[in-house]
Amino acid sequence: MSETQRSRRRTTTQDSSTTHGLTLAGFLSRTLHYFRPYVGHTAVVLVALLVQAAFRVAVPIAYQQIFDRAVLQRDMAVLTRILGLLLAGWVVQATASLVQDFFSAKSGNRAMSDLRLAMFDHLLRLPVGYYSRTDSGDLMSRFSNDLAVIENAFVRSVHTFLFSALILSTSLILLFVVEWRLALITLVALPAALLGPKLFSGRAQWLSYQCKKLEAKVAASIQEAIGSHAVIRTFGLQDSRLRDFRQQLAELVNLATKARFAATLASRTASQSVYFIQVLTMGVGAFLAIHGFLSVGSLVAFVALLLNVANAANHLSAVMPELLQASGGMQRVLDFLSEEPTVREVQGSPALPRLSGKICFEDVSFGYRQSSQALLGVNFTVNAGESVAVVGPSGSGKSTILNLILRLYDPDEGRVTLDGLDLRYTSESSLRAQTGVVLQDSVLFNTTLLENIRIGQPDASEADVRRAARKAEIHDLIMSLPNRYRTRVGEGGSHLSGGERQRIAIARAILRNPALLILDEPTSALDPATATAVNTTLRRIGRECTVFSTTHRLGSITHMNRILVIERGKMVEQGRHQDLLDRQGVYHRLWSKQSGFTVSEDGRSAQCSPERLKAIPLLAGLDHQRLQTIADLLVSESYPEDRIVYSKGEPGDRFYLIVRGEVEQILSPDGSRGGGVRKMSDGDYFGAQAMLDAMPRQATLQTAAPTLLLSLRRRQFEDLLAGEPGLRARIERETRHRRIEQHDTFETLIARF
Ligand code: ADP
Repeated sequence: MSETQRSRRRTTTQDSSTTHGLTLAGFLSRTLHYFRPYVGHTAVVLVALLVQAAFRVAVPIAYQQIFDRAVLQRDMAVLTRILGLLLAGWVVQATASLVQDFFSAKSGNRAMSDLRLAMFDHLLRLPVGYYSRTDSGDLMSRFSNDLAVIENAFVRSVHTFLFSALILSTSLILLFVVEWRLALITLVALPAALLGPKLFSGRAQWLSYQCKKLEAKVAASIQEAIGSHAVIRTFGLQDSRLRDFRQQLAELVNLATKARFAATLASRTASQSVYFIQVLTMGVGAFLAIHGFLSVGSLVAFVALLLNVANAANHLSAVMPELLQASGGMQRVLDFLSEEPTVREVQGSPALPRLSGKICFEDVSFGYRQSSQALLGVNFTVNAGESVAVVGPSGSGKSTILNLILRLYDPDEGRVTLDGLDLRYTSESSLRAQTGVVLQDSVLFNTTLLENIRIGQPDASEADVRRAARKAEIHDLIMSLPNRYRTRVGEGGSHLSGGERQRIAIARAILRNPALLILDEPTSALDPATATAVNTTLRRIGRECTVFSTTHRLGSITHMNRILVIERGKMVEQGRHQDLLDRQGVYHRLWSKQSGFTVSEDGRSAQCSPERLKAIPLLAGLDHQRLQTIADLLVSESYPEDRIVYSKGEPGDRFYLIVRGEVEQILSPDGSRGGGVRKMSDGDYFGAQAMLDAMPRQATLQTAAPTLLLSLRRRQFEDLLAGEPGLRARIERETRHRRIEQHDTFETLIARF
């Protein structure tokens, strides 16, 4: 097993292996670790704590002296001296408390800031796969809830804990100095007082950790409800989501009650036992004083020391639940920090020189999960300067090839080399520095156009930015805006159109002067006219560097030097467009699927040729005239992204053909994505069954990108077949036969589901 696989396995099992919280000692040692850089401040805080504790335990001893040497002897000089010393001591400890408050706030907040920074830094370094398998609500909860309880411990509870523990231990020692017999009684009773916390704190820690995990789940549910509000509405899922949420809350109430009760039980038993010891020793002490074994001053001092013990125990018990909560939070933070980046930089890796030779995939296999392989033994060599398109059906592994070139993941087997150097053993930054990327949905930040273009090259001058914008053919548009390059783009670039956003992303990529340009479906979300214009720009830019692009729209890549055809993770064909067509293989099949459509300039309507319709099994038996009639009857339906075309259970009365775009068939009964999704794109069709039987829809269909469909009503199809029962029977037979032949059809998925 490779190191990558091992580390992936480690990260995926991480959460399940850590099911308990950190112990209190573990938490304190982690706290010390985070305070280490502030050793000076921490030393001041500790000295200030010692001064205050010394005063607290000196007061009972002063009582002893006041009663025995001043009050009972009526000696004013001694009284004045002791009161003077007490006053001086009070001033010193009051000053110490102020110093402690200031430095503990300062060091606590700095340690917190370091921890936050370490978490954020880690967040940025985590592999892409981590984000897809982690709830963002859970992540946010680690940054908010968990850090909040740790912050409280860092700036307050830990100090209260240390102070109380100090007073408790020194007061106990002094009890022996003042009267050992009474102290012995206290000591015998004390283990009983400590037994309670020992018994309950283990369970309290465990419950606190479980509680934190459940809180994170609740946060994740809220986040999911916000993110998928459109689906919840359209599916009418409010009641079921509310029911699930209510159930989660009930579990949380139950667990939080248990956790809180266990935490207070741990502390309460300690303080109650101390009260009992107090009553016991007071009685025995008074008895000893009456019989002359103990001075009145010593009894007063003893009682005052015991009060110290009780107070300290009370404070400890109050602060213990907070510390236990913080240790639960710290455990979750540590779990997060121990997530390993899948791609690890080998120390001292050499920098990649600017690409000038070849990019090679040598027997590359890779899987996002152990159970499935996204790529299997892929081999190819591409020369610098070539433009390469990776094509294939949805889910075949196109983007995975780009992910490996970008080194977002390392291969499980085989290697990816640039100019003969294995990417695994070269510095990641040197690869990034020569790579430009344009994705399907370009992320723009809510800042100016200038900053958005400059984001990947912060030291670029404004003149460089303009040059890049000119090449991306967006400069003129920017100059027509009132604030030109200082125009803000709105949240997620909402003030710009899809095409403009892509051009900003292209300018961003050009600014880096990339040797390698990676394009992952850059125009699939654009209307045809905009897509053609953006493709022309990309084609021009591509002449200056090596280009790797994925697309499911083959019309835009016919000019490429090389086309790699991927099917089910394997490379099945490669070559130029015409050679691949001549081969009559997978590429030819994909090409035929997408041919035969004429799309209007604005991309909102389309027509389909009768020849293209004949390739659909349902219609294969119809003559040319009938096919022409159907082609004329087809209605264009244009949908934006994330729109439901039909829902499960609705009457199936239409057949659809995808002209361009992407749709998902959601197979689960409640419309959630957990039950399985089947993606379809340009040239695919669905709803054939609805043409023959008036069955309810067996799944929900939703667009995953702006999509143009052609639809045919069942009634019209019926009219066409009316009076020709023989033709209808043949079509039914043919359709059924084809369906059985296809192993991965939607119907077989449904059957399996
Ligand atoms: P394509 O780009 O051809 O549509 P991908 O390369 O995105 O295909 O995906 C190849 C396979 O890997 C698919 O089965 C897909 O479901 C799976 N896959 C892609 N990304 C992830 C991921 N982050 N985690 C798990 N599986 C993934």
